[in-house]
Amino acid sequence: MTVSTQTPLVRHAVPTTPQNWTVDAVADLFDIPFNDLLYRAQQVHRANFPEGEIELATLLSIKTGGCPEDCAYCPQAARYHTGIEAGKLVPLAEVVAAAQAAKQNGATRFCMGAAWREPKGRDIEKVQAMVSAVKSLGLETCATLGMLTDEQAVQLKESGLDYYNHNLDTAPEYYGKIITTRVYQDRLDTLGHVRRAGLKVCCGGIVGMGESREQRAGLIAQLANLDPYPESVPINHLVQVAGTPLQGTEPLDPLEFVRTIAVARITMPQARVRLSAGRRELGEAVQTLCFLAGANSIFYGDKLLTTGNPEAEADRDLLAKLGLKTIAERAAANCMECDARTGS
Ligand code: SF4
Repeated sequence: MTVSTQTPLVRHAVPTTPQNWTVDAVADLFDIPFNDLLYRAQQVHRANFPEGEIELATLLSIKTGGCPEDCAYCPQAARYHTGIEAGKLVPLAEVVAAAQAAKQNGATRFCMGAAWREPKGRDIEKVQAMVSAVKSLGLETCATLGMLTDEQAVQLKESGLDYYNHNLDTAPEYYGKIITTRVYQDRLDTLGHVRRAGLKVCCGGIVGMGESREQRAGLIAQLANLDPYPESVPINHLVQVAGTPLQGTEPLDPLEFVRTIAVARITMPQARVRLSAGRRELGEAVQTLCFLAGANSIFYGDKLLTTGNPEAEADRDLLAKLGLKTIAERAAANCMECDARTGS
């Protein structure tokens, strides 16, 4: 008889004690010599993630384009001419098929993103059905739908949502250069509603938008001082899209991106720090430095096919070259070790 031998991976709960990082203290971390910074980040990483597993999260756009907001980096804003057509909410069956493909490709989290300023009541009902269906496949669920009310956050939680993504984007001082159609406090309010509903928080930002190092430190300080800090911290490297106001911005030095990852790891020790937009453009060598700096989650296989997904294959190749296991692989390996020990 086979007994239940699966050894669950350590589930990380972020500490509930509030942190108090000043922008100066975070900026001091950025200034540490590169090798010393990576060494320190790697120590924090190993202490908190001894198994070193990488999370694969797949993102599906469930409603693309036509957004009324003016985020200067975003090709989905209706006011910029980026060639993205506004679409309707995708049917439930399409979401389920994408989630099944994601799971088959090794993802453990499935994120559904809609280009809305905020969802309406009927939108929430449709997303609730999607969340329930994805959850029933055994995947962690995440949604990013814009600003939420308290009630909407509770509705999503009740349908089985695990995480809500709402990024702070940048430091408060730089925010007005990037977005004018809503204020920083709106974002903090939504994050408060999400926490009060008992959802886990996925919240990060974008670097390379022309901000200063001090402003990057300001973003990290804001994230680290959220009470508690987010369970997931996506760090995006700006992808400059033709037609958006940020096209032509001075590109960020890739090593500064690596530093940002390291500082996020040190200040938010138990968070999943995720390499998000702009990851593939960084190339294998810089991504490898990011893993060394403490990144332990990637957005993966976003053009989903059940077979022959070259981007997902390239990601798996890189992880294999580095000897990094995914959460699913690590869980399976732990299970086999247990089986061997119990002789079942
Ligand atoms: S709210 Fe989201 S979809 Fe809309 S413009 Fe901003 S980033 Fe793009």
